[in-house]
Amino acid sequence: MSGRPLLNRRLDGLGTTIFAEMSALAVATGAINLGQGFPDTDGPEAIREAAVRALRDGRGNQYPPGMGVPELRTAIVDHQRRFYGLDFDPDTEVLVTAGATEAIAAAMLALLEPGDEVIAFEPFYDSYAASIAMAGGVRVPLTLRAPDFRPDLDALRAAVTPRTRLLLLNSPHNPTGMVLTRDELTAIAELAVERDLLVVTDEVYEHLVFDGEHIPLISLPGMSDRTVSISSAGKTFSFTGWKVGWVTGSAELVAAVRTTKQFLTYVASGPFQYAVAEALALPGAYYDDFREDLREKRDLLAAGLRDAGFQVHAPQGTYFITTDIAALAPDLDALTFCRALPHQAGVVAVPNSVFHDHPSAGRTQVRFAFCKRKTVLAEASERLRRL
Ligand SMILES: *Cc1c(COP(=O)(O)O)cnc(C)c1O
Repeated sequence: MSGRPLLNRRLDGLGTTIFAEMSALAVATGAINLGQGFPDTDGPEAIREAAVRALRDGRGNQYPPGMGVPELRTAIVDHQRRFYGLDFDPDTEVLVTAGATEAIAAAMLALLEPGDEVIAFEPFYDSYAASIAMAGGVRVPLTLRAPDFRPDLDALRAAVTPRTRLLLLNSPHNPTGMVLTRDELTAIAELAVERDLLVVTDEVYEHLVFDGEHIPLISLPGMSDRTVSISSAGKTFSFTGWKVGWVTGSAELVAAVRTTKQFLTYVASGPFQYAVAEALALPGAYYDDFREDLREKRDLLAAGLRDAGFQVHAPQGTYFITTDIAALAPDLDALTFCRALPHQAGVVAVPNSVFHDHPSAGRTQVRFAFCKRKTVLAEASERLRRL
């Protein structure tokens, strides 16, 4: 073997995710895992049964169509009309993917030339850096700062260069819980039009907004031909293991993303696609109850964290709370704190610093997930109070 490193240099520093380390710690110590963001109860029983039925009836057990099964594409179109008044053609403007993760990767691989710059909010969702890197792009972070994590729109404007190809936007934003306002989205849309940028929007928490509202950027003037809108069933229906995601956008953009997607997985999640079609058609009460349940859980954990001495940055959306540990542990950075927490308190959280290119920005920020049963959140709060 030559002395050459095995992993290509584009992926330097992207070896393992923090979730692997922290989830292993949770298992080793028996700690409550509020690190990784997945629910500890499954979504609606009727939807689980729909998946069983599809599997038994032989729907989706063989390769489904490359664009996704027609029932699901139609359900996605209906959902976009019902919630946002948007119209898409199910045959050309919708693409089903293996979760939002594949949609993001396929979009980066399809739309970037090596050296193209991608502006994204930091802290980033952890697949962004890798997807941009695999496509040969260069990420340009725009730091969201505590306490309210609003994007600095002047800094955004200043970050655009002749090499900027696209903006990768996440709202509601993981991990900070920031939800872009209509004014902010309007300013971003105007900038995208003025500088002729593409925008990829990650909207997987679209139904988890507690304060404010979710507005798809693609609905704003000038954006329909330059936005790749991405969402997924995992978070909305509490079936994160099914990996059913989707892209909506102009026929040209969807065709571009399909070109790379077809050589990544081609298709995925056959029977689950039929179940997600039924899930999307659930009545408004499902969506309202889901959001209100998570709102109560947010408030429960926020109160517990405050009692334990954390500074809480209450999220407007998502199912994460970002806290600051500066007052609680003045000498510790977030990573050191999170490595010790399972031993000291029997709770796992993740440091936001690892989601930054500039770790100093998130040095004392720690993220907790509240998509867990209330008894679990109460027990975690009790344990943290003993810190
Ligand atoms: C969970 C998550 C995803 C991944 O969604 P999948 O459908 O599971 O691939 C993408 N973006 C953000 C911000 C997330 O939190």
